[in-house]
Amino acid sequence: MDDAMTALPLVFDAPRRTKPPRHLADLTRDEARAAVTELGQPAFRADQLARHFYAGVTDPAQMTDVPAAAREDLAAALLPGLLTPVRHQSADGGRTRKTLWRLHDGALVESVLMRYPERATVCISSQAGCGMACPFCATGQSGLTRNLSAAEIIGQAVAAAAAMANGEIPGGPGRLSNVVFMGMGEPLANYARVRKTLDALLTPAPHGLGLAQRSVTVSTVGLVPAIRKLTEEGLNVTLAVSLHAPDDELRDTLVPINTRWNVGEVLEAADGYARRTGRRYSIEYALIRDVNDQPFRADLLGRLLAKRLAHVNLIPLNPTPGSQWDASPLPAQREFVARLRAAGVPTTVRDTRGSDIDGACGQLAAADQVDGVPSVAVPVPAVEEGPVEEGVPLGAESDQG
Ligand code: SF4
Repeated sequence: MDDAMTALPLVFDAPRRTKPPRHLADLTRDEARAAVTELGQPAFRADQLARHFYAGVTDPAQMTDVPAAAREDLAAALLPGLLTPVRHQSADGGRTRKTLWRLHDGALVESVLMRYPERATVCISSQAGCGMACPFCATGQSGLTRNLSAAEIIGQAVAAAAAMANGEIPGGPGRLSNVVFMGMGEPLANYARVRKTLDALLTPAPHGLGLAQRSVTVSTVGLVPAIRKLTEEGLNVTLAVSLHAPDDELRDTLVPINTRWNVGEVLEAADGYARRTGRRYSIEYALIRDVNDQPFRADLLGRLLAKRLAHVNLIPLNPTPGSQWDASPLPAQREFVARLRAAGVPTTVRDTRGSDIDGACGQLAAADQVDGVPSVAVPVPAVEEGPVEEGVPLGAESDQG
């Protein structure tokens, strides 16, 4: 490992920035009703606005159940446009669509919508940039710009749901079924807003997107107190831990948060979540050539996980131009999988959707500098599916998930 790997400090507190405008999705239902009343409208208008927001209606003229005279004012006050699409980029025949969004202060984030025969998943960002400083991840190298508000996070999922409902993705109108927090940022470092987002995703329509708990995946590099807090919430969403190394010596450099909470502590916290929910958690492991892909590390990981309620999701690293980090060659990937399976650990290889649209979440943002706002770039992993129990054929560009 070279020294550059540990050069960046971990950043937990987002720099102070101007807050995004108030949005209905940031408010509780009672708060929204109070806000509408303050605007001289009956409280039930808040429910009407919520219905329009979660249905993806952005044009006040379409909110025909709200009196025409009040539409513009209510929408301006409670449904400000927080996410401006800068560009869409498609791959896989249009079934994968990455969107670069500009936020009110010029910060850039991405989401990726992936349509499969049986489901549609959106990968969303929870922060602009990331403070976790993983050296193989360009977003981490760019640092943390700021936390996203709940409405900014929720808005990405709502936009994806609307794109599906409107038939913008080939295959006809459909329904968004899955959300994964694997875009930019460390979701559990923005806990309160991510928690609020979970409510919005899980609350039945019309006051939320009505997704199933197991269809929502929260990922973390291992913020142990936050995993414990999530455990106490009583939710059953899927937990994914980005481990990337089975031993503290390597993980201290590859995932610097490990110097705060080590492999054993992270797995113990994830075990606690699995015990409470009765659900298998996912171990995300980006396979990086000659860094963490050695057979002995596969064996070590296998021993660590053999008796745990966990499965491994291997991610062939998507190399970025000019990066010293490279994907593991196929034979090394195969060997790694075989050793994990031999140890009795359910193992899948992640679908590499979108690899022909600059690969990872973040690369679109890397290409755009807006008004001097630092770009955020290339988090790895990027395009992710929720855990699956059956293996995807190794090396296959499967769209079956
Ligand atoms: S890999 Fe994930 S946690 Fe690590 S710096 Fe990148 S976005 Fe942050």
